Amino acid sequence: MRKYSVIVVGAGIAGSTAALFLARAGHRVTLLERASVLRTSGSPVDLRGDALDAVRSLGLEPELREADTGVRRMRLVDAGGRGIADVRLRRPDSPDIELSRTALGRILADRAAELAELRLGSGPTSITADRTGVEVGLADGRMLAADLLIGADGQHSTVRRLLWRPEEATERPVGLTIATVRAGAVDDPATLLMHNRPGVSLSVHPAGGSAVAAFILRTGRQPAPATAELRAELLTRRYADMGWRAPELLARVRDSDDVYYDTVSRVRTTRWSRATVTLLGDAASSITILGEGSSMAVAGARTLSAALEAGTDLPTALATYERAHRPVVERHQRGARLGAALLVPATRPGLAVRNGAARLAPS
Ligand SMILES: Cc1cc2nc3c(=O)[nH]c(=O)nc-3n(C[C@H](O)[C@H](O)[C@H](O)COP(=O)(O)OP(=O)(O)OC[C@H]3O[C@@H](n4cnc5c(N)ncnc54)[C@H](O)[C@@H]3O)c2cc1C
Repeated sequence: MRKYSVIVVGAGIAGSTAALFLARAGHRVTLLERASVLRTSGSPVDLRGDALDAVRSLGLEPELREADTGVRRMRLVDAGGRGIADVRLRRPDSPDIELSRTALGRILADRAAELAELRLGSGPTSITADRTGVEVGLADGRMLAADLLIGADGQHSTVRRLLWRPEEATERPVGLTIATVRAGAVDDPATLLMHNRPGVSLSVHPAGGSAVAAFILRTGRQPAPATAELRAELLTRRYADMGWRAPELLARVRDSDDVYYDTVSRVRTTRWSRATVTLLGDAASSITILGEGSSMAVAGARTLSAALEAGTDLPTALATYERAHRPVVERHQRGARLGAALLVPATRPGLAVRNGAARLAPS
């Protein structure tokens, strides 16, 4: 079977998993990561279904389970912090793993770096691809050549921007913004707390000992404010009368230099591959916090690797990967609108309906 030289752009969840699968299969992999230190928002993410099978086949399940947050339920609280409803997030016998993006990213990237060449502080400034291979220009002026390039550089993918025409790839805000910041200690490490007012939600996730607060708010199609100060100002304005832990958590946003802030966007691409370049994970298709992006990234990496192992030519393998994985991703993204409505009801009646339904849900 042919062994390829592969450049993977982005050592996030998709890129590191792909590097692991491909290097284990004997391909020569170079992993380019823009950040000089691997750091992601500590928000918790889930691994379930095919993603669990994928991490099992890489022998990573025990290490990942060790990092499980242990969170089992969500408690909706009022402005005074009193419980309104408890909702079960995972059954006691659930095989799913929930862990922080930081832990998942670190474990995957550390393992990938054992088998692939990881170059931190590096990314493409130009890409030329045809049916015979791909050439990448780097910021320091050097060039890299390979048989295949995988763009796993996330929601705002540079690979996609360099090679896909605007009408082939769109990134549209879905009307929500998310900001996360480290929160202080929590009383119950197994319970996620959430408080809502119409159009805004504030939650504190215990995240296995390094709790994370998430501000999720309806912002329409407005672009994110340009500076950290303006973003903090917008959050302070929108959460002014929120009650509960809002004042203390807003102070953390103003004082921290580690605030994650982004609009929730939907990435759509008419096709995932061009010549010898393909997209993976959020770069190909995503709705940020809605749509099980982490599980999709891990499962997609395995599907891509399996397609390359089938022994066909490269264009056939890339077409097989897209044909198998695109419907899975799109199925998971279909629930995004409902997910947004439950997470951040827009109106007072909507909030009352959501809370009523939560009281009836299994706890
Ligand atoms: C705040 C937040 C909360 C989330 N919550 C959940 C959740 O609860 N459940 C869930 O399943 N998913 C969740 N997600 C989504 C999930 O994290 C992503 O879908 C998943 O990480 C996709 O992985 P990825 O590797 O495609 O992208 P990313 O994890 O974004 O990784 C992309 C990598 O590429 C690097 N990069 C970017 N540009 C370049 C470049 N030009 N050159 C080189 N490297 C580059 C980045 O530094 C990064 O390391 C959340 C996302 C966010 C942001």
